[in-house]
Amino acid sequence: MTRVCRACDEPIKDEDGVIVAHELGNSGPGWDIWAHRDHADDVELIDPVVLRIMCRIWAAQAAAQ
Ligand SMILES: [Zn+2]
Repeated sequence: MTRVCRACDEPIKDEDGVIVAHELGNSGPGWDIWAHRDHADDVELIDPVVLRIMCRIWAAQAAAQ
């Protein structure tokens, strides 16, 4: 499955992508909204809860390097 950036509509490689929101489906679990890490700030629907989670992940990655 190819992820597409919500901000620029370009495909996203795994290491460049962040989840900016989660949309609920009418049936099933719904789907995640992705954006390039550099473009996450441009996505208006960014979810503060998701952002907080991603910031925690980034901090953990930075600490591990
Ligand atoms: Zn993008």
